[in-house]
Amino acid sequence: MRIAIIGGGIAGLAAAYELEKARMAGAPAEYTLFEQRERLGGSLSSEIVGGAVLERGPDSFITEKTAAAELCRELGLGEELVPSNDEARKTHIVVHNRLVELPDGLMFLVPTKLVPTAFTPLFSLPTKARMALELLRRPHPNGHDQSVAELVERHFGQEAVDRLADPLLSGIYGGDATQLSAQTVLPRMVEMETQYGSLTRGMLAAHRRMAKSPSRGTNGGGGIFTALRGGMSQLVDALVARLEPSALRLSTAVSELRRTYDGWSVVSGDARESYDAVILATPAWAAGELLTAVDAELGEDLRTIPYSSSITINLVYDENRLGDLPSGFGFLVPAVEGRAMLASTFVHRKFLGRTPPGKAVFRAFLGGANRAALLEESDEKLIAIVRRELSEILGAKAVPPNVAPEHAQVSRWPRAMAQYAVGHKARMERIEARASALPGLRLVGNAYEGIGVPDCIRMGRRAAQELVETFVPAVGVE
Ligand SMILES: Cc1cc2nc3c(=O)[nH]c(=O)nc-3n(C[C@H](O)[C@H](O)[C@H](O)COP(=O)(O)OP(=O)(O)OC[C@H]3O[C@@H](n4cnc5c(N)ncnc54)[C@H](O)[C@@H]3O)c2cc1C
Repeated sequence: MRIAIIGGGIAGLAAAYELEKARMAGAPAEYTLFEQRERLGGSLSSEIVGGAVLERGPDSFITEKTAAAELCRELGLGEELVPSNDEARKTHIVVHNRLVELPDGLMFLVPTKLVPTAFTPLFSLPTKARMALELLRRPHPNGHDQSVAELVERHFGQEAVDRLADPLLSGIYGGDATQLSAQTVLPRMVEMETQYGSLTRGMLAAHRRMAKSPSRGTNGGGGIFTALRGGMSQLVDALVARLEPSALRLSTAVSELRRTYDGWSVVSGDARESYDAVILATPAWAAGELLTAVDAELGEDLRTIPYSSSITINLVYDENRLGDLPSGFGFLVPAVEGRAMLASTFVHRKFLGRTPPGKAVFRAFLGGANRAALLEESDEKLIAIVRRELSEILGAKAVPPNVAPEHAQVSRWPRAMAQYAVGHKARMERIEARASALPGLRLVGNAYEGIGVPDCIRMGRRAAQELVETFVPAVGVE
């Protein structure tokens, strides 16, 4: 069996790793991994500068989704896993240029504690009153998809959209609450609305069930997030070290994909090769372009999955030259504040031991669904914008405008984050139906069943396992 993996991000690498395992277990499975760039890892890319781990893309993964930590342990990186420093975990939201701490008892977007909600300066009195009255809402079955903004506005009002939903979701998806699908991004809240009416009552009931559950906890007592001591590139390097070097084709873009009478023909450069199966691990828009010649409708559905672009900027400072920073991991900036930054993490606080003593690292996140034009700006301009906004938001004493960072790193991520827009679930059903009619084709990556690193790993591994089981039923992967 010959399998082509197209795209060497984490999803494609996870698929390759699973196929390599099958090969080592004796399955007649051969694979080739095509990656258009000269390096593997896709969005995962880290650099160590003066002992500070600087992440260009993801800095960590959610511990509760176990696929990433499991893979790291399997690869011998168990000792390298670093839990987030949850004792210092506090998130601030920028409101009229000032930092306001997220109130205690907030379960994602839902306030569950009366007193902290009543006293927080995050919301105005009318919003607080609306939050209290939300408890009285009656069950409301909702058959059609709606945007996250519509769902949150209906329950808690526009201010909750602007100051909670929008900044929290743009920190995860680089997305826009008015576009993102509630059914896909907040499925539990949609269920709660149907069952309880009130999201607050639904959340409290879920919390009570969790408290009683014996399997409670975050994957063995770690932090909410898990990082790698040497950065996410450690995972990429460990995966690549397990793969067959001759199977890896870097700087090789696949330009054409065709069905043949017994499999697939894959064109890269001047070469046309035959494979039994294809794992498409590119962004969906690239997968759509390749599949249009095979199935135009499938191609169209894939090409039109929206993606957002983003920029990360790491600034390393001498801590002695900064003033006191507020407590916590950093802050989120609602779009209504009209700033370029969507969020900034205090890296030296979030994961201990990844920044040398005496240094402070700010990681700013810019761009998102509505600010793609920022990608065209020069590095110098972007660094100047972030320095200015850090000074304005944290105060000129904390980050003096005349103190320059010792190191600045700018990374641009054009069309890298899929947006689960309203209608995503229905689109996915169409994609699955059409893709399953094409034998040997698997689609994996952040556009389909989850945006995060653990989801991409899970999809990549599962696709490879399924193909091995289909084509070589006698030889298991384990
Ligand atoms: C700035 C940023 C911060 C993030 N932060 C987090 C985080 O903290 N935690 C978290 O869990 N997730 C985070 N994410 C999301 C997560 O990193 C990504 O969703 C995930 O890494 C995507 O992996 P992938 O393999 O699906 O796609 P990609 O990483 O995009 O890889 C796809 C690969 O396909 C290649 N390719 C495309 N077309 C072709 C072609 N025709 N031929 C050959 N190769 C091709 C591309 O060059 C690329 O390398 C972040 C993402 C970004 C951009």
